[in-house]
Amino acid sequence: MSEQREQTQQQAPQRRVVVVGAGMAGVQTAVALREQGFTGPVVLIGAEPHQPYDRPPLSKAVLLGKAEDSAFDVDFESLGVELRLGVEATGLRAGDREVDTEAGPVPYDVLVLATGAYPVTLPGSEGVPGVHLLRTLDDAARLKPVLERRHDIVVVGAGWIGAEFATAAREAGCAVTVVEAAGRPLAGALPAEVAEPMAAWYAESGAALVTGARVERLAPGEVRLADGRRLPADAVVVGIGARPATEWLAGSGIALGPDGSVTADDRLRTSLPDVYAVGDCASFPSARYGERLLVHHWDNALQGPRTVAAAITGGPAAAPAYDPVPYFWSEQFGRFVQYAGHHAHADALLWRGAPGDAAWSVLWLRDDVPVALLAVGRPRDLAQGRRLIEAGSPVDRERAADPAVPLKAALR
Ligand code: FAD
Repeated sequence: MSEQREQTQQQAPQRRVVVVGAGMAGVQTAVALREQGFTGPVVLIGAEPHQPYDRPPLSKAVLLGKAEDSAFDVDFESLGVELRLGVEATGLRAGDREVDTEAGPVPYDVLVLATGAYPVTLPGSEGVPGVHLLRTLDDAARLKPVLERRHDIVVVGAGWIGAEFATAAREAGCAVTVVEAAGRPLAGALPAEVAEPMAAWYAESGAALVTGARVERLAPGEVRLADGRRLPADAVVVGIGARPATEWLAGSGIALGPDGSVTADDRLRTSLPDVYAVGDCASFPSARYGERLLVHHWDNALQGPRTVAAAITGGPAAAPAYDPVPYFWSEQFGRFVQYAGHHAHADALLWRGAPGDAAWSVLWLRDDVPVALLAVGRPRDLAQGRRLIEAGSPVDRERAADPAVPLKAALR
């Protein structure tokens, strides 16, 4: 432990840290605080009544009944972390250093906001029987019997969650139609030339993909499209994105971005003193990519807490700036899809293999320096590409575009 960190702990050994949100980012914050030697009280408040759990398995093993649940393997008691589950935070009074909850006010010295995101709903869908979202363990528990009944299912949205749900529903033997407003899957995430070939994966799995289609109305038993088509639907699953869960902070004076995220700095500090934000609810300035990023992926909820814990434990100046190469994976239609980086400012795109191949990758460059990589069934490309992106070194384009050449050997 550094001298500076030791001194800080000696000065304020009993500061009380309250973490709101007991998902990946909240749990990892509590774990990282203990790993980094924080000895003061840690209180973890979570709105859901369940033992804290991991979300990625919800659209995969849990949905298909291959795993009962996905509770984190963390012994909160032995870590000395006080769990308050089934308690929703309703407001923040930073002047008083108190969080309001349904169970009364909770005082803090340091507060960490880790309330994640909530799924966007289709207007008019609330209360319509058979309409589902997929964000929580309870959502997955409601959907499991739907899959078991092998229903006609309409999925609204061909994004990451829509694709993963469609995969599970096909595996369970349901008839699946995916309705997407854009002209291709993953339109918000990937450029057309990369995402268009993925449309074939739906057909291959036996799912119908209807693109350029707007849902006009969800009625019991059917989905009506704006062009007049009616799709039979015993169940509808809406997967059209997620928004930071920050509405409860209204009136607290905390700075929020236009996307609803808590706008944290590069140590994940918010605009309020001793209040941090991490995971799906927070955006941060990326010096690496020259813009503010809001990342809704698991790895961000794993890495960010280490910075928060370092800033709390040793003081913000001692914490390394949070500037990750974002990473995520998706398992869809029998494929392992991985992405690292951020391609918004790329000036070139190289294919390693062709989209019809069993495995292929796409590398985005800026001035010949890799800035992002998408790997389908090529985990080695992902691992090596991620390191090249982190290093920021230029590559030889010809070698980088040759799938037979290991990416690390393409360095100039
Ligand atoms: P969350 O996991 O959303 O946790 C936030 C917690 O805070 C929730 O439990 C919520 O109930 C609680 N909360 C909210 N408001 C309050 C309040 N006011 N008071 C108290 N508690 C509150 N990412 C990948 O990289 N790969 C994947 O394959 C992948 N699969 C996914 C599959 C599904 C079905 C879902 C939903 C997400 C998936 N993700 C995946 C994304 C990943 O799970 C999230 O990025 C990650 O869970 C974010 O963690 P978080 O702690 O920031 O937020």
